[in-house]
Amino acid sequence: MSEVTLSGIKKSFGPNLIVKGVDLQVGQGEFLVMVGPSGCGKTTLLRLIAGLEQVDSGEVRIGGARVNDVPPRDRDVAMVFQSYALYPHMTVRENLAFGLTLRKFPPAEIASRVAEVATMLELGHLLERKPKALSGGQRQRVAMGRAIVRRPKVFLFDEPLSNLDTALRVQMRGELARLHRRLGATMIYVTHDQVEAMTLATRVAVFNAGVLQQVGPPLELYNRPANRFVAGFLGSPAMNFLEARREGANLVGKGFTLLSPSDLAPGATNLLVGLRPQDLRVAALGPLTGTVDAVERLGFDGYAFVSTEAGLVAARFDKGSQVSVGDRVSLSPVADALHVFTEDGSVALR
Ligand code: ATP
Repeated sequence: MSEVTLSGIKKSFGPNLIVKGVDLQVGQGEFLVMVGPSGCGKTTLLRLIAGLEQVDSGEVRIGGARVNDVPPRDRDVAMVFQSYALYPHMTVRENLAFGLTLRKFPPAEIASRVAEVATMLELGHLLERKPKALSGGQRQRVAMGRAIVRRPKVFLFDEPLSNLDTALRVQMRGELARLHRRLGATMIYVTHDQVEAMTLATRVAVFNAGVLQQVGPPLELYNRPANRFVAGFLGSPAMNFLEARREGANLVGKGFTLLSPSDLAPGATNLLVGLRPQDLRVAALGPLTGTVDAVERLGFDGYAFVSTEAGLVAARFDKGSQVSVGDRVSLSPVADALHVFTEDGSVALR
């Protein structure tokens, strides 16, 4: 078994508490993707799992066993970095074999594992080259191959695709997904790329300032964010937030009145309404009005950024719509699309 369990993990660097008590269980064979703003502690968490850093308090378990005091080389995890970290003076074959040679595997076993991985990652024709004679995508495949030959219990990936151009990223994303299906290994993956998170993850974990905000299947987080932070972090353009108060069956804000969703629990008067730009249409009639500030045309459709009394609001328009900067427009929410949060954004009420 190779599940990873983090319980009450805390980690400081000097006076700064960076990881603030994280509890997270990653199941056997899961592909867990960690996202969050720069500096929120994602890489630190990977390094704590790998044993490259020591926890201040809490417990790291791999495959059920406590590994707090187990050195990195005995944790049976492999980490793949953004920077590839290949040995420049070794050939691809030697780079792939290195971890096994170090662990004194028999030469025949090393040769067969290297051959297997070279086939899996289409590196067969590159085995005698040095890293400097490889493209970025090929180097990244070698870095992954070096992890795979070890057949570790757990793979840790730290933004492995971020140095690749867009086309290669898309290709490598597909290869990673196939690799995960084929190996059935537990994978924990840090990225800044929302598309990677949404497409690769069995579950996504969203962090902010060293605190786990929410963890769940990608669409669940997108459709049912637990708080304003998660709602605003996932999705592009970001969700619109509008201050509003309850007035009878309505939610009323500056210059707009929206029908309150029937399943909104009673409670506080002052609220925050969340509307994804994709759920808000530029229309002939709608409860929000304003002046178009900017337009982004994406081909099939586009987004208008509209200055309203309640603030700048992003809304989608269809290819056929004529929308220009300076137009007075109305905005109409798609039925049932309203998110509602407490005034401070800490809890989603709907
Ligand atoms: P990014 O997305 O930018 O890679 P991250 O979420 O991975 O960020 P970490 O790399 O985990 O963030 O860093 C979290 C914080 O801890 C940062 O403020 C960083 O400067 C600090 N930090 C990380 N490692 C050390 C260290 N060895 N000594 C001191 N501070 C550190």
